[in-house]
Amino acid sequence: LEAKEEFEHSSLAVDVMRPRRSDPPLAVLTQDSMTLGEVEALVESTHYSGFPVVVSQESQRLVGFVFRRDLLISIDNARKRQEGVVSASLVVFTEHAPAQAPEAPPFTVTDHTAMDITVDIFRKLGLRQCLVTHNGRLLGIITKKDILKHMAQIANRDPDSILFN
Ligand code: ATP
Repeated sequence: LEAKEEFEHSSLAVDVMRPRRSDPPLAVLTQDSMTLGEVEALVESTHYSGFPVVVSQESQRLVGFVFRRDLLISIDNARKRQEGVVSASLVVFTEHAPAQAPEAPPFTVTDHTAMDITVDIFRKLGLRQCLVTHNGRLLGIITKKDILKHMAQIANRDPDSILFN
């Protein structure tokens, strides 16, 4: 992320995160209460690169984050190789997928975190997305692209013209 000098220091994570007020709600998966059919329907009806996993829709307590591509691979494997897997099967998200390195928990900031700090975190940790919480409840998501768009808005120029590595 370049163009630090153009960054408005008064912006907060809540100003940059999605969903916006007019957007559909955050697409989340629940830890152990969705069927395979429900998970597939959610994945197919959206184009997001990933989905936060929460304890339950009511609690919105964050437990993890799953990338769309990993989810599609797991579903494909389960459908092909696991016996008795049907659309009504329950999908359970665990921290340590078998035969995989343990996933790092998703990075979070609170809604009141200043955007200059958030941008610093993105840069230093090389994040592609970060989740936003309020009192421990999941509120939204900020992707690298959301930050770029926000910076471009501040600088009032084309987002594609900003260098980003
Ligand atoms: P693109 O796919 O165009 O490269 P991107 O790099 O921001 O965009 P995506 O994950 O596809 O990555 O997110 C697209 C937009 O949707 C972003 O504004 C992001 O904040 C938002 N978003 C990402 N994941 C979700 C989700 N699970 N539910 C709701 N909104 C999301």
